[in-house]
Amino acid sequence: MSGLLVVGGGPAGLATAIRARLAGLDARVIDRAQPPIDKACGEGLMPDAVARLREIGVEPRGLPLRGIRYVDGDLVAEGHFPGSGGLGVRRTELHAALVRRAEDVGVDLRWGVKAEGLAAEGVQTDQGTFAARWIVGADGLRSQVRTWAGLDGGPSPLRRFGVRRHFAVTPWSDCVEVHWGPECEAYVTPVSGGEVGIAMLWSGRKAGFDGLLESFPALKEKVAGAPVTSRDRGTGPLQQRARAVSRDRVALVGDAAGYLDAITGEGLAVTLHESAALVAALVAGDLTPYAAAYRRINRLPNFMTSLVLALERRPRLRRRAVRALAAEPALFARLLGIHARTLPPRGLGFEGALRLAWRLVAA
Ligand SMILES: Cc1cc2nc3c(=O)[nH]c(=O)nc-3n(C[C@H](O)[C@H](O)[C@H](O)COP(=O)(O)OP(=O)(O)OC[C@H]3O[C@@H](n4cnc5c(N)ncnc54)[C@H](O)[C@@H]3O)c2cc1C
Repeated sequence: MSGLLVVGGGPAGLATAIRARLAGLDARVIDRAQPPIDKACGEGLMPDAVARLREIGVEPRGLPLRGIRYVDGDLVAEGHFPGSGGLGVRRTELHAALVRRAEDVGVDLRWGVKAEGLAAEGVQTDQGTFAARWIVGADGLRSQVRTWAGLDGGPSPLRRFGVRRHFAVTPWSDCVEVHWGPECEAYVTPVSGGEVGIAMLWSGRKAGFDGLLESFPALKEKVAGAPVTSRDRGTGPLQQRARAVSRDRVALVGDAAGYLDAITGEGLAVTLHESAALVAALVAGDLTPYAAAYRRINRLPNFMTSLVLALERRPRLRRRAVRALAAEPALFARLLGIHARTLPPRGLGFEGALRLAWRLVAA
């Protein structure tokens, strides 16, 4: 019997297992897929995600990201992270780096094992029952552990989807570029000296990458003729709700614990903060504090995501916001610092908030 059985060997599951091992617990991870696991993702790591990975000894290869650039028609606003920057990392590279570290610290990794239900002693799989003291559901957006544990929060009202594709092209920016279109956003992340990933997020019906790219003629032009280096991967609906993040000896982490949207590009950072809080609770042998930590970690990201989703639906207001940020690059940088937790939530200051509000009205 292992101390900890993690269902799902994506970033949430592997980071939790690595931390658990570093804290002296034994940890086993099962995943139905084979590594390195690819996934629909914008592949931009926020500065705090990079720091949290480094804390557990994971340093994936990637391209440094200086900040975020919003492009809305002819309007452009660029903000730089205060302090150290983020990292553009191909998802398979991130996964391979996590797997290497998990192996180094002695996590028991079982690939190609599919969880099929919860059992009295642990988790039932297509290869028998795995017994464990604690079970962690890290099985992503459509978590079945969440359902089996009775933690599903019901269907979500939001119909948002994501799809990504990579192109062999020299990156033209050291920022993540966010292009705003009609009910659709394109995230361009440089992931190496010769490759960029484009992730589309949109509202409404299911759609394909090529159709969505039509909404961004300037971006389409930049990648025209460039070889496509990955198979399209999509996912959705993005919003998934959980009634709670733990019950008895089962805890949820990462997307499995509930997800609002990828529009602010911080899912991985949030996931890594959650895994640290979860392992602290597991070490103490009591999951109760995890729920409070989870709420604290997600409060600001959920607020920012709701705010940006509201702007997505209001193009005129959004253009005012982009104009305001373009006029105040120092305040934009401070906002990014708050977003990436390198500055406290009050980091904008009263005077900064007032100036930004004034720009928004006057823009
Ligand atoms: C379009 C898009 C763009 C994004 N862009 C960014 C970004 O730029 N930056 C950022 O930080 N975040 C971004 N995110 C969010 C980020 O990708 C997720 O938050 C992150 O992948 C969560 O990791 P996870 O480990 O919880 O889930 P996953 O990576 O989905 O891992 C779940 C794992 O569980 C396994 N599994 C599932 N069911 C079972 C089962 N029954 N048995 C065994 N194994 C199972 C799967 O095989 C998978 O490996 C984006 C998300 C989307 C959709």
